[in-house]
Amino acid sequence: MNARERYEEFYRNAMDNKEAFWREQAQLIDWETPVSQVLDYSNPPFAYWYPGATLNLCYNTLDRHLEQRGDQNALIWVSTEVNKTVAFTYRQLYEWVNQAAAVFRQMGVQKGDRILIYMPMIPQAVVAMLACVRIGAIHSVVFGGFAAHALASRIDDATPKLIVTADAGIRGGKIVPYKPLLDASFKQITIPKPNVLIVHRDLVPQSPLGVGEWDWDQEIALNARAHIPPVAVDSRHPSYILYTSGTTGTPKGVQRDTGGHAVAMRASMKHIYDLRPGEVMFTGSDIGWVVGHSYIVYAPLLTGATTILYEGLPIRPDPGIWWSLVEKFKVTIMFTSPTAIRLLKKNGPEWIQDHDLSSLRYLFLAGEPLDRETHRWISSTINGQVIDNYWQTETGWPILTNHAGLGLMATKFGSPAVPAYGFDCHLVDERTGKPVKDNEKGSLMIKPPLPPGCMTTVWGNDQRFLDTYFSRFETLMYATFDYAMRDEEGYYFIMGRDDDVINVAGHRLGTREIEEILCTHPQVSEAAAVGVTDAVKGQEIVAFVVVSRDGAPPEGKELKDLISREIGAIARPKEIYRVAGLPKTRSGKLLRRSIQAMAEGRDPGDLPTIDDVAVLDHIKKAIEATHD
Ligand code: ATP
Ligand code: MG
Repeated sequence: MNARERYEEFYRNAMDNKEAFWREQAQLIDWETPVSQVLDYSNPPFAYWYPGATLNLCYNTLDRHLEQRGDQNALIWVSTEVNKTVAFTYRQLYEWVNQAAAVFRQMGVQKGDRILIYMPMIPQAVVAMLACVRIGAIHSVVFGGFAAHALASRIDDATPKLIVTADAGIRGGKIVPYKPLLDASFKQITIPKPNVLIVHRDLVPQSPLGVGEWDWDQEIALNARAHIPPVAVDSRHPSYILYTSGTTGTPKGVQRDTGGHAVAMRASMKHIYDLRPGEVMFTGSDIGWVVGHSYIVYAPLLTGATTILYEGLPIRPDPGIWWSLVEKFKVTIMFTSPTAIRLLKKNGPEWIQDHDLSSLRYLFLAGEPLDRETHRWISSTINGQVIDNYWQTETGWPILTNHAGLGLMATKFGSPAVPAYGFDCHLVDERTGKPVKDNEKGSLMIKPPLPPGCMTTVWGNDQRFLDTYFSRFETLMYATFDYAMRDEEGYYFIMGRDDDVINVAGHRLGTREIEEILCTHPQVSEAAAVGVTDAVKGQEIVAFVVVSRDGAPPEGKELKDLISREIGAIARPKEIYRVAGLPKTRSGKLLRRSIQAMAEGRDPGDLPTIDDVAVLDHIKKAIEATHD
């Protein structure tokens, strides 16, 4: 059997023999009350995986590995911000997590209570997550880049009993306050102020503790010998809440179960990521995002692997830093975002190629479109397999991917390959809901039940779950809010988000297609296309490009001609601006709406998730300069 046939058989088995398939996957996890029934789907689209079975997530990540892997590294923390590397074995992490669990208990946290974690990329953040699920509490990690307002709305929604934070973080050598931002958020919340546990870092002088505030180190020291038995919870007990990135609107509190989540994570390591117990995984992301939850914390630890937690930028002290980690720690599987790779691309391949990358089997990229050029560039630069995978906070693991664990199918640049086992993907006409033909663009929908590991509801709001995701058509289908196309070989191509369409005189053009073409120009490293209102045509296209450092920068006309030639005159941008950077979320997602607002001369609005505010100014100036 070749890889394609193996995949097809595997996928079909997951569809046709759903119960048997997921019963078998469940054996990858240790249960307290064993699995009997696999799925209760009596209340569609709410899927209840492994009803009645009980387990503890922390037990599965730590305790069960102690006997065989007690002295193996579980977590290696590398901070290029404070120049530290600290490794923790499974036993050390286990001890620390027990101490933290005891502290949480002392602070009155019970099973089902929420703990909000607002922390930089330090090991205490992972310890807090695991300690939380150890006692059956529910964590909600809020990305450290969020400021007071975003934080307050999440505190109000998750109503935590305890908040774990640090007094400060550091990014690009600059100290970032955490506790002061939390204090500012307390002025805006509508619930009583929760208890606060603070990790003091030697970045700022230690502030005196206020009412209801405790010091992490002190409390941990008081519980140095504590052992807290893991609390077995029902499979559907929430393990965590995580808010979506908020690229397209108000963030939704994605609720994840425990049993389905554990099974999905462990199974994805085996069949998709091909990470084996004892190996090393490096995910260059943040624990505040779903990629960090799944592939820095849960999946590698459930597998008995070593995970690298990296605090710092991918290009500091130099653009070779990540690849030196691959060499030093013999990383076998690496995972990051296309944005990070584009950043490295701007700096040149030598930074990567200077390192011995022979341990690296695969590099996975996800989170936003991976354009063909970047895919091709990074594949040849690392001389290895680069796997584009498409998924969402909502699903927790890939919807579309090439399955390394089953043997790789041929790569098509620009495509995240094929549906992952368990995802029943359909492409339909956005108006009629009828299936589209091969090579035609459609809305990507998933027929429920969603497989294990996917969101089970919106936190505290079943109705919003139904209204947001399942109300698109008459038949019950989960909407991804992305467009895709499938070719005759079954490979999918993501064509952009539902709201990324530009309508020029009745022609609907995907922003992704235009950006792809712009990126084929050798000097263009990044591009964004948006629609601006036009009295005649409805919308006109305006594009922004970031030009790489070498070579003569292209003229606007040259790029416009390129679009006319490759897509058609209808797609020819009215204006192309050269800018220093594009506004993105900290997780690397293009903030297209804010670019569009500026292109239309409007205010980009409140952007709590933006990575670098300075780029907005630069864009504004570029626009103004053209219109003077
Ligand atoms: P919100 O839902 O709050 O607007 P968001 O959709 O950006 O935010 P995430 O769940 O972090 O939040 O991102 C998932 C989205 O990212 C997908 O729906 C898709 O648009 C995009 N995406 C993720 N991976 C890929 C990929 N490999 N190729 C193309 N797009 C991708
Ligand atoms: Mg989304």
